[in-house]
Amino acid sequence: MTQIIKGTTKLLGVIGHPVEHSLSPVMHNAAIADLGVDYVYLPLPIKPDDLEKAIAGFEVLGLVGFNITIPHKQSILPLLNHISPEAEMIGAVNTVWRDGDGWSGTNTDVKGFVAPLQDLQKDWSQITPIILGNGGAARAVVVGCWQLGCSEIIVVGRNQDKLKQFKQSWCNTPLYESISIHDFSALPNLIPESILVVNTTPVGMYPEVNNSPLEEEVVAKITSDIIAYDLIYTPDSTKFLQEFNNKGAITINGLEMLIQQGAAALEIWLQQVVPVEVMRKSISK
Ligand code: NAP
Repeated sequence: MTQIIKGTTKLLGVIGHPVEHSLSPVMHNAAIADLGVDYVYLPLPIKPDDLEKAIAGFEVLGLVGFNITIPHKQSILPLLNHISPEAEMIGAVNTVWRDGDGWSGTNTDVKGFVAPLQDLQKDWSQITPIILGNGGAARAVVVGCWQLGCSEIIVVGRNQDKLKQFKQSWCNTPLYESISIHDFSALPNLIPESILVVNTTPVGMYPEVNNSPLEEEVVAKITSDIIAYDLIYTPDSTKFLQEFNNKGAITINGLEMLIQQGAAALEIWLQQVVPVEVMRKSISK
C-alpha cells in the first residue's frame, strides 16, 4: 500500500548524528504503509549540542515519538519525565514517546535481543551466557539474559579498568551479583562451560570482515552445542559466526534484534500489533 502524507499525518522519527545510514525509516514506513495508519517516520539528524532545542521543538511540532541512536542514547535521559526500569538499568534509551506533558523513554534493544533466543525455547536458568565486550550494547544484552532467567552472566572485556567500572555500574540493581567479569585470556577455559556466546564488540563488522574477537585457541574449543549470537548484521555472517557455523553450532546475527527492537518501538507508538514480517522483508537483501 502506498503511504500518503496528509495534513493530519502524525510524526515519528529517529534522532542521531549521523542518521543517514539508519535502516529504521525504511522498516517503519513499510509497516506504517502496510497497516494503512496515518503516520510517517522521518530521519532527524540532530547534532549533540542541539539535542535540548530539538526535543523542545518536537513538543511544539507534536511528535508522537522517536527512536534514538548514537550519540544521544545517554544524553537524552535528563530530558525525560519517566524512564522504564530496563532503560534505567542500561543507562540508555532508544525509544521515546509523548506522555502527558512530557516524554517517557525505554530501551527496546532488550526485547530485540531476546526475541530470537525465546524462539529456541531453552531453559535459560541453566545457561551461563558469555558476553564479549562491555560497551553500550552489552548492557542491553546483560539485561536481556537476566530477563530470560540466566542467574550467572559472564562478561569478557579487554580493558580491566573498564570491566571493573562495568561491574560496579550494576551495584544498585538486582543484577550485580549475577555478573562476573573476565579478561579475553580466560575464554579458552570459559567456552567449554557455556552454550551461549554473544559478540557485542564491533570486531568483524564491515569492512573489517576478516577479523574475529576469538583467538585460534578459543576457536579450537567450539562445539556444536553452542549458540553463537553476533549483534553485527553487516555482513550477514561474520567471521565469528562462521567459526561456530563450521562446528555445526546454531548462529544468530543482529538483523532480527534490529527488526524486533523496531517492532517493539512501533507497538508502543501505535498501541497495536505491527507487521514484523513486512518490517523484516523491507530491510532484507
Ligand atoms: P561500544 O559502546 O563502543 O562498545 C564496544 C565494545 O567492544 C567495548 O567494550 C569495546 O572495548 C569492545 N571492543 C571494541 N573493539 C574491540 C576489539 N578489537 N577487541 C575486543 N573488544 C573490543 O559499541 P556498542 O554500541 O556496544 O555496539 C557494539 C556492536 O553492537 C556494534 O557492532 C553495533 O553495530 C552492534 N549493535 C547492534 C544492534 C542490533 O540491533 N543488532 C544494536 C546495538 C549495537 P573497550 O571498552 O575496551 O573499548
